[in-house]
Amino acid sequence: MGERRAPDPERRLVNESSDHRHDAPNLEHFRERLQEHMAKKGLRSTDQRRLIVETFFAAPNHVSIEELLAQVREQDPKVGYATVYRTLKLLAECGVAFERKFGDGLTRYELADDEAHHDHLICVQCSSITEFEEPRIETLQEEIAHRYGFELRSHKHEMYGVCPDCLKAAAATGKRN
Ligand SMILES: [Zn+2]
Ligand SMILES: [Zn+2]
Ligand SMILES: [Zn+2]
Repeated sequence: MGERRAPDPERRLVNESSDHRHDAPNLEHFRERLQEHMAKKGLRSTDQRRLIVETFFAAPNHVSIEELLAQVREQDPKVGYATVYRTLKLLAECGVAFERKFGDGLTRYELADDEAHHDHLICVQCSSITEFEEPRIETLQEEIAHRYGFELRSHKHEMYGVCPDCLKAAAATGKRN
């Protein structure tokens, strides 16, 4: 539900400068970061948790808890919602995943990208999510923060509208929204 295209991890790196292309984010680094975080919290890595983490690493961006749960259950039907929920929370806590809420009531997760930043266009009809990068907006945001005496730490830029597919479908049925 809601994912118009299936952005695999490689897709997100297309916009990186070509001399810096790698085919996936540094998962080994993310695994280590999670291990350290769990050790600090006195948690041990279980088979279920490992399965959830690896399934998340392979999942499309902006996966919801429900979607990830369905994928994990294909491998192990005994995994419960709460375990997936808690594991995603852990990933978010240690900066391996970003938690996103795009106004459709679902919490979505995407792999943190230490090297590239992107923002989102969200379709209010089909809930599809399109990623974009625009250096001019990034620069402007920095300038605005500076103007108000802020040291910028992070930001989310979300634009809500109707995607080309939904516009096309509406035009085809003659019902404009
Ligand atoms: Zn941005
Ligand atoms: Zn749409
Ligand atoms: Zn994204």
